[in-house]
Amino acid sequence: MKTVAVIGGGFGGIAAAIRLRARGNKVTIYERLDKLGGRAQVFQRNGYLHDAGPTVITAPNLFYELFELFGENLEDHLEFKPLDNWYRFHFNDQTQFDYGPDREKMLSQIESLSPEDVSGYLAMLKASEEIFKLGYEKLAGHPFNRIATMLRYAPDILKMRGYRSVYSFVSEYIKHPNLRQAFSIQPLLVGGNPFTTSSIYSLIHALEQKWGIFFCMGGTGKLVVELEKLMLRNGIEINYASDVSHFSTSKKLITKVNFTNNESKAFDYVVSNADPIQVSTELLKNEKISLHNRLIKKYAKHSMGLFVLFFGSKKCYENVAHHTIWMGPRYKELLEDIFDKYHLSEDFSIYLHRPTCTDKSFAPKNHDSFYALVPVPNLKGDQNWSELKEEFSKRILNALDKTILPGINVNSEEIFCMTPEDFKADYRTPFGSGFSIAPILTQSAWFRTHNQDDRYKNLFYVGAGTHPGAGVPGVINSAKVVESILYDD
Ligand SMILES: Cc1cc2nc3c(=O)[nH]c(=O)nc-3n(C[C@H](O)[C@H](O)[C@H](O)COP(=O)(O)OP(=O)(O)OC[C@H]3O[C@@H](n4cnc5c(N)ncnc54)[C@H](O)[C@@H]3O)c2cc1C
Repeated sequence: MKTVAVIGGGFGGIAAAIRLRARGNKVTIYERLDKLGGRAQVFQRNGYLHDAGPTVITAPNLFYELFELFGENLEDHLEFKPLDNWYRFHFNDQTQFDYGPDREKMLSQIESLSPEDVSGYLAMLKASEEIFKLGYEKLAGHPFNRIATMLRYAPDILKMRGYRSVYSFVSEYIKHPNLRQAFSIQPLLVGGNPFTTSSIYSLIHALEQKWGIFFCMGGTGKLVVELEKLMLRNGIEINYASDVSHFSTSKKLITKVNFTNNESKAFDYVVSNADPIQVSTELLKNEKISLHNRLIKKYAKHSMGLFVLFFGSKKCYENVAHHTIWMGPRYKELLEDIFDKYHLSEDFSIYLHRPTCTDKSFAPKNHDSFYALVPVPNLKGDQNWSELKEEFSKRILNALDKTILPGINVNSEEIFCMTPEDFKADYRTPFGSGFSIAPILTQSAWFRTHNQDDRYKNLFYVGAGTHPGAGVPGVINSAKVVESILYDD
């Protein structure tokens, strides 16, 4: 039995703790906040409930596996409800497109917009299924610590033309500009600009089509609570409000984990769910770091920031879908402003979450609970969010009031927001980015922070900043990768 410290209780840290405990180790989680979940924290305001982060559950099998490791069945604790409409796109020209599991319904909508895109869509789906076979089935759960692994897969990645962006991949098959937007936004769900993110991430489309999209009844917060109970039932120790300040090292090992309250402890293995760049710049500030991590620290392209506006509504908007992607007037140019110029534009796009569409427990009777997520520049943009946030919130509500939520300016209540400043303060995320470093090709697989540190052999990484990357399936898979490195599976 080895002693394992897991630093951070996001989904990556939780999955690592469960996997390493199931292997018989003595596992302790240290989380700086007073609850688990990381970006999946929960807010409650006067009868309204809000998941702060992930709301879309894909690849649910990854969670079933975590319960099965202890001989338990997820369904005894949780209900993953399949959604029959996955995303409703609301375009700037006021047209809408429903993306979901009903293939016939989707194809007929495509046909009415652009008949030639029907065969194009089917060809695109086939191509993304091929990418899924490589990118998800072969690469996502596989360690990429060694350059040899990268070289082994490089011919496949080249054959798939992984150097293309997701947008150019989609544009090879789809002609209509609105459909091009609808089928290329997936990188934004993991922190990437569709115009620069490797087309390998087109696998997300195939992943959604293969397993569907689910909502965890009670919310993602309920999922965190049930995982927490699973861990406690099975002997994992959890420490809340435990902030790790730095690591002590000797030669090629982490010898101690030190906390901001001046305590320190020694472990056989340390698994970091903290952002890898936080590890390089803060936790190992006074220690040597590997060349690989030095390069990432210096040159990394970080994902965008997120502005998340939470609000309740005294009126119920029955016709609004569970997930709406509300597109602004510009697409490519807006993304350039956010990702390249770090400029906060006048226009924006919104992902609107309405959990009350599926689960009425999120709001008082006949009320709605919403969050509106808007991609914005990360803190490299130097925006002063404490000055901007009020006016920006009003602009978002106005835009929704004029389109899909008429009257929301008067019906909304209990309004509050999270800005990139909050992401930095709450999760200690460099530049307050929403998803750690961006998923471009030169920051994927071997190029991302390795799941086992190159220098300190008892230091491992899970979570969005390491391989395979952000998004709940990605971070849960990162724990599988660490397990397979330790146990040579
Ligand atoms: C608004 C939003 C919506 C999203 N929607 C979706 C979605 O619908 N579907 C999806 O699949 N993905 C979604 N994502 C992405 C997904 O939520 C994240 O990629 C994933 O949850 C990140 O998990 P993680 O393991 O990297 O840890 P994080 O959630 O980042 O947690 C890391 C934890 O480590 C703790 N920590 C950091 N430093 C220290 C330290 N020094 N000492 C102790 N503790 C520390 C932090 O407090 C935090 O709790 C969304 C993300 C956001 C922000």
